[in-house]
Amino acid sequence: MTLIVQKYGGTSVGTLERIQAVADRVIATRRQGHDVVVVVSAMSGETDRLLELARGLAARPTEREVDVLLATGEQVTIALLTIALHDKGQDAVSFTGAQVRILTDSAFNKARIRDIDGAQVRKALAEGKVVVVAGFQGIDGSGNITTLGRGGSDITAVAMAAALKADECSIYTDVDGVYTADPRIVPDATRLDRISYEEMLEMASLGSKVLQIRSVEFAGKYHVPLRVLSSFKAGRGTLIIDEDEKMEQALIAGIAHNRDEAKLTIVGVPDRPGIAHGILGPIADANIEVDMIVQNVGADKTTDFTFTVHRNDYDKALEILQKTAGKMGAQGVNGDKRIVKISIVGVGMRSHAGIASRMFKALAGEGINIQMISTSEIKISVVVDEKYLELGVRALHSEFGLDKGAGKAGG
Ligand code: ASP
Ligand code: MG
Repeated sequence: MTLIVQKYGGTSVGTLERIQAVADRVIATRRQGHDVVVVVSAMSGETDRLLELARGLAARPTEREVDVLLATGEQVTIALLTIALHDKGQDAVSFTGAQVRILTDSAFNKARIRDIDGAQVRKALAEGKVVVVAGFQGIDGSGNITTLGRGGSDITAVAMAAALKADECSIYTDVDGVYTADPRIVPDATRLDRISYEEMLEMASLGSKVLQIRSVEFAGKYHVPLRVLSSFKAGRGTLIIDEDEKMEQALIAGIAHNRDEAKLTIVGVPDRPGIAHGILGPIADANIEVDMIVQNVGADKTTDFTFTVHRNDYDKALEILQKTAGKMGAQGVNGDKRIVKISIVGVGMRSHAGIASRMFKALAGEGINIQMISTSEIKISVVVDEKYLELGVRALHSEFGLDKGAGKAGG
């Protein structure tokens, strides 16, 4: 018998009708001959509502008690879903994180899973039951209730699937899969049938917000086939799996973009050892994360040094950089918030040369000036003026044959 772990987020269990629809889907999956473990989130808005209550009493509510409080949200949903399953004639049992013994560390509000003792779940499955598990929560070594951080039910689902060696972990959400580009920008974007963990991680960290990065990492580490699909629309969604031969043929899996960055440049710094550290050290000390970095040496023995940070950190970074410029005797500082990062991602890049030049040619063809470039083994990113976002993403999407009807949608 195959085992499938299904995860339903807050919107999918947001009303009693939706909980009944989830019950129907679970029963349909059973009828197809699979064992099913269901992981659910709290009903939509519930976690926020509970947090509000705590904040109504204290500016900084005790972390341990916040977890005791938030864990109730998921406990409501497991009970309701199980009641719905019973009412439809399906044998089922619910478990909280503590009952399944999802053992975590003691970092309240952001705990990490250490181990799962799946014995009780296996026993219930063997008795023919559907098992309904509360997402987002666990228990630490001293018996305290913990939660895994916002959106943590995905992690519960992937971890359960890994512990039970499930055949697949299906994440039901409000999008019907992973697309070759954001469909709001590229109407011709197509849903990928499959994508590798690595590509998905790049897409996710580059701004495609379909799945939590942490759960994709976890799934990749334990080789759990992960499927993203819609709770509301029929379809097979996108399967995220280990890279295979077939994928190697698709040059580019998708185009990602990120509008959350801003660019800063320190101009005319005397070029000598230690400048990179001198510039970025104070930035790092202020806990600001730097993404892309470019340094050019000018003919006059000075250098311009450019880097990007999150837009929210821009003002703080600019202030720090101005001080650094004073100390270093630089000619000046400038910055630009109106940039976007556009990236192409694909494992096919490993075995094919010339992808970067095709990318640059396509952008040049649209008259788009590239301000910065960075590359990794399976991705190339460029920074351009934000007014070129749509044009740039569309140009690359068609250059790499990803448009609807262009033939090969995701291998
Ligand atoms: N209920 C939690 C939250 O809203 C966990 C989850 O939904 O995944 O963040
Ligand atoms: Mg959620």
